[in-house]
Amino acid sequence: MLKKIPLHTQIIIGLILGLIFGLVIIKTSIAPDFTIDYIKPVGTIFINALKMIAVPLVLASLIVGVSNLGDVSKLSRIGGKTILAYLITTIIAVTLGLVLVNVFEPGKNLPSDTRDNLMSLYDDAAGSKSDAAADLKEQGPLQPLVDIVPENIIQAAADNGSMLQVVFFAIIMGIALLQIPKKKADVVTSFFDALNDVIIKIVGYIMLIAPYGVFALMASLIVEIAGENPDSAVELLLALLKYSLVVVGGLAAIIFIVYALMLKAFTKISFVDFLKAMRPALLLGFSTSSSSATLPVTMKQVEEEIGVSEEVSSFVLPLGATINMNGTSLYQAVAAVFIAQALGMDLTIAQQLTIVLTATLAAVGSAGVPGAGLIMLIIVLEAIGVPGAGIALIIAPDRILDMFRTVVNLTGDAVVCTVVASTEGELPSGLIRKSNPLTPND
Ligand code: ASP
Repeated sequence: MLKKIPLHTQIIIGLILGLIFGLVIIKTSIAPDFTIDYIKPVGTIFINALKMIAVPLVLASLIVGVSNLGDVSKLSRIGGKTILAYLITTIIAVTLGLVLVNVFEPGKNLPSDTRDNLMSLYDDAAGSKSDAAADLKEQGPLQPLVDIVPENIIQAAADNGSMLQVVFFAIIMGIALLQIPKKKADVVTSFFDALNDVIIKIVGYIMLIAPYGVFALMASLIVEIAGENPDSAVELLLALLKYSLVVVGGLAAIIFIVYALMLKAFTKISFVDFLKAMRPALLLGFSTSSSSATLPVTMKQVEEEIGVSEEVSSFVLPLGATINMNGTSLYQAVAAVFIAQALGMDLTIAQQLTIVLTATLAAVGSAGVPGAGLIMLIIVLEAIGVPGAGIALIIAPDRILDMFRTVVNLTGDAVVCTVVASTEGELPSGLIRKSNPLTPND
């Protein structure tokens, strides 16, 4: 019977049931250990399965993507458009975040005892995040550039956190394939092309357990959040409500205003159709908080439901999942100024401009995994002279906000991909849907 329900509806059902289940567990304290020991692993298996194919997918699809472009001039044209679009959307996101946080000033009214409470409660957690960021901070200014070039590709591919290095290698390999005799290049390209198809097939298999995985992720998330600090959690979350609303409001504005306008200006696809086509990916991004883990599904939806060619999507999307994080960059801008406001520090225009620059870079550097944006936020804070330990103030709602910003991150990639495809003459009459037996949609 479950087979007849469209996949995205199944995922929504899993999500809602998981939330309800988690809430019942924490209200009744009946089986919190059972949830963590026996339900959470289903979610972990689901995320692991998605992550398992992330590196081969990025590698294969980028190599095929670049080499399919036919010649280097097409690559530089599509690559140029893509990077420009990613840069512009990121700067818009940071600027929007800055405007909102300066207008609504969510940190100005934070009562000082709440502030002290948060600082003491999350000091340890903030400390460990700072340690993670400390290594980054001690590096020289050109380190991010150095980090793009792997010293060993096998090692880079063995670590989901080194995706930028894998992207670099794949692009170079794709370019090289364009410049050797076609007969020889075909041997390699056909291999990766077939690998690509195999991976997309595997995504279909993994999506069969998506509703159960999402249920397990939601249920265990609720139990874990409540377990960390049962008494003060709700109270502190309420104190941070204004901050959270500014972040979520900004994220919604990016999707419903910025992306809607971009689609209207550059494509014939209606915004509603676009969102409908993307549903499984949006829901998955929300429940996994990982744009890398969602990448296979984002690619599948963009190709099969929107109709973007594999040529464009296999280049634009893996790159975007690694460097384009509009949700994260907006969040970092809001969070940095919020912390400064709560600590009673007034930021100058120069400091705010520093936020634009550092949040843009920090978002590029953030891996598409849960919580990455929070760690990179410390870099932004240090750059404007706000103590990194200030992140203690915003850790409480972070897990939830992470879910929302991940949705924006992957939607941004998909929008840019659709726009680039349209400007390349694809999708002349709007959305094209191909039949897709493994992910039943309505
Ligand atoms: N979780 C986000 C993502 O995967 C990154 C972040 O923490 O902001 O896109």
